[in-house]
Order: sequence, then C-alpha cells, then structure tokens
Amino acid sequence: MIIPAHIQSMTTIARHPAGAPASTGGQFKPSARAATDIDLSAPTSTLAAFLAADAEVDRLVHDAIESGLLIENRTSPDCWSTPEIVIGHTPDGQRATASLTFTRLPDAQSVNHDDVPGVWEVSAQASYHKGRWVQDCGYLTEKIQNVVKFAPGVDQTSVAALAAVRSEHLNSFNPGCAHQGEPTKDGHGRSDLDSVPPCPHTGYRYGSAWLARAADPVKVADALAALGSATKVEPVR
Ligand SMILES: [Zn+2]
Repeated sequence: MIIPAHIQSMTTIARHPAGAPASTGGQFKPSARAATDIDLSAPTSTLAAFLAADAEVDRLVHDAIESGLLIENRTSPDCWSTPEIVIGHTPDGQRATASLTFTRLPDAQSVNHDDVPGVWEVSAQASYHKGRWVQDCGYLTEKIQNVVKFAPGVDQTSVAALAAVRSEHLNSFNPGCAHQGEPTKDGHGRSDLDSVPPCPHTGYRYGSAWLARAADPVKVADALAALGSATKVEPVR
C-alpha cells in the first residue's frame, strides 16, 4: 500500500499523552490527572436517563410555547419565560407572584460524568409586592408556602407544585457529581470545598466545574400546569 506523503508525515509527529509532565508538552501533571474507572466511551444508562428526562422537558417547553404560556425572551437567546403570575397573598398582605424560565444550554458534562449535547435549565422566581412596590424578589423560596389567599385558578395543589419545582432551580449548575456529598461550612459560614472527597470513580474535584442534571419532567409539568391554570397576571411595569 502506498501512503500519501502528507499522511506519512503525520506519523512522525511526536505526541505527548495528556498526563505527561508540562515540561515534556503534556497538559497536566501526572499527579493532577483524574484516573477514571468508568468507561467514558460507552453509552451509559445514566446518559440514557438524562436524555429521556431532558427530551420530556423539551416536549413540555414546546407545548407551553405553543399554548402561549411561555414567551420568548427578547434579550436572551434560547430563553422562554412565563409571565409573572399572581399566586395569592401572604398573611401580612404581600401579593405573591411566580414565574418559570427555561433556557436551552449547549453541550455540558453531567453529574454522572456523561457528555450531554444540551440541557433545559429551569429557573423558578417569585416576587412579593405591596401595592405597586416590590418588597422581595428572587428565586422561588419556601416563602411561597405561606400564601393563604389564593388568586383565581390557584389552589393548595398549585402552591405545592411550585414548592416542589424549587429542587429543579438551576439544574445545570451543580458543583458536585452524583457520587459526592455536600461540603461542610467553615467558621464564616462558607462552604469548605476541600471537605468533599474527590469522586471515587473519576477523581473529579468538588466545585471545579458546573455539572448538569436533567430537570425532573414530573415537577416541571406540575409547575407549568399550576402557572397555566392561574389566570391573574401581574402587569408589566
Ligand atoms: Zn462522580
């Protein structure tokens, strides 16, 4: 067999393994290299589960876009939000509103160390108003469960669905993998990232990346249904 000259020349290039010391052209020190005992080249069951859950969220998002519940954000690409929907009042008279935002993010690493082609990120927000004034706003907290006087189309089930979807808030931003626990707090209340042992499978260091989890489609469906059946929308100011 005759090998073309340009391919022959390629075989003469000195290649350095990724784990070779930096002085010899490798990218990482051998001691810093994560040793993996997971076959990262084979399709995994965790990847299949991720893709199935994310595909289901994709279907829910598209249904909500079609029904007009989710509206494309004019300033952020690949981002759709519900309006600010009135949920009810807190016992001290604050009017509570909630909204959900879905953003399509590009390829990422999952909490199970799978390469995933993309993920729907869920963001759940709430605001509390007195008259025209916003008292408190940010991501949806357990405060939503204090709502007592429900707005039209809202009931205890809707509030429970909103409280439940909180666990899916920013599902694409996980500092730890599926095989790690949570860090302990230091004396100043800060998370001590080094208190979490490296992943026993891959050596992944807690907090060294953002790892993605597919959102739970059941929680997403229930929360979208809760907002979809509520009929009062906070006017845009
Ligand atoms: Zn891990």
